[in-house]
Amino acid sequence: MAAKQWDSIWINGSVATCDDGYGFIKNGAIAVQDGKIAWVGEQEKLPGAPENLAIDVYDLTKYCLTPGLIDCHTQLVYAGNRYQDFELRNQEKNAADIENFGDGIESIMAATQDASDDDLLLQSCSRSDALAMEGVTTLEIKSTYGQDLDTDLKILRTVNQIADGFQLVPTYFYGYELSPEFSQNPDKYIDYVCDELLPALVKEKLVRHIDIFCKNTAFTVEQTERTFKTAKEFGLGIKCHAEQLSTLGALSLMTQYQVLSVDHPELLSDENIRALAKTGAVAILLPGIFYFAPGRTLPQVELLRETGFPMAIATGCNSDTSPVTSILLMLNMACTLLKLTPIEAIQGVTKHAATALGLGTSLGTLTVGKEADFCIWNIQHPKELVYRIGFNPLVEVIKKGVC
Ligand SMILES: [Zn+2]
Repeated sequence: MAAKQWDSIWINGSVATCDDGYGFIKNGAIAVQDGKIAWVGEQEKLPGAPENLAIDVYDLTKYCLTPGLIDCHTQLVYAGNRYQDFELRNQEKNAADIENFGDGIESIMAATQDASDDDLLLQSCSRSDALAMEGVTTLEIKSTYGQDLDTDLKILRTVNQIADGFQLVPTYFYGYELSPEFSQNPDKYIDYVCDELLPALVKEKLVRHIDIFCKNTAFTVEQTERTFKTAKEFGLGIKCHAEQLSTLGALSLMTQYQVLSVDHPELLSDENIRALAKTGAVAILLPGIFYFAPGRTLPQVELLRETGFPMAIATGCNSDTSPVTSILLMLNMACTLLKLTPIEAIQGVTKHAATALGLGTSLGTLTVGKEADFCIWNIQHPKELVYRIGFNPLVEVIKKGVC
């Protein structure tokens, strides 16, 4: 008997490749070899009978297959919670001032610093588990709640321990809520990041990207460039929380250093959006924040669309402004609150989310040669994932071709 050319094949369902639009194939099939996609297309175009082509043949029973979902912006490793703040804020009806209310972020930072390794992992997994149950297979997590080397190390070690078969993308997030030691001395802080912290994180292989926060801390162009340069020397990608990019004055740096994503682009000027759209960066939108704080300025989706700026969608899972662990809910809110189209939302958690993490060549679409990372859903079309709320039709997740 001739050797079979593929390890496995899925047939008798629909396939949404999410590459060019939905890339919807009504009667589709997908084949996998060595953990990679080896063939995808209309089932009738298979070069033979499925049982002669692959060792394992799986029947999709009319289900729909999509790429594994990607949550490209979270801060879900932390201890403690802020439900008291939520209650207070709710009574005051002051949702717009969400960041400065109640115990504040300091309580989370202190709880995270004090938590044992096991406890931090347990609390964080309660959030990552919820995402896994909705088909998230790739997960970015920022180190947000650390303020010193030990806590940053603890958080990023925890990120790397989160199981559930995720592809994890740990990101060192800096410039946010500086400790008193550094808040009056940004130069000293940049020295610390470049000379001490990043080398320690890289040595332990704990970090893949850095993310600079450009809101409260106005780093100079020189300070910013120093961290970008150090990151590139270590082979790390660069992401940017861009709330007040103009104060950073570093648009040319963003181009020069090929920033992967511009997160929270809602306060960017029209001029900045037009300039950044040409850099290849992805705009990351976090619908949950606009639900929790409805008074906020919305991102300029029409301008992002018009300029061809790719848009990704994420939960932004954090302790306060977006305590969200539902990527499916974000799909709906991206359309209802931010006015994306359903296909923009779907590509925002697949194709463009992969690019935002520097993984566009290996994940995000069902394309021959990419990792066989996909979800099987009990739906007729991916639009159904966007349109319904409180509905989780996930049947199975396949990682690297394995059920
Ligand atoms: Zn953020």
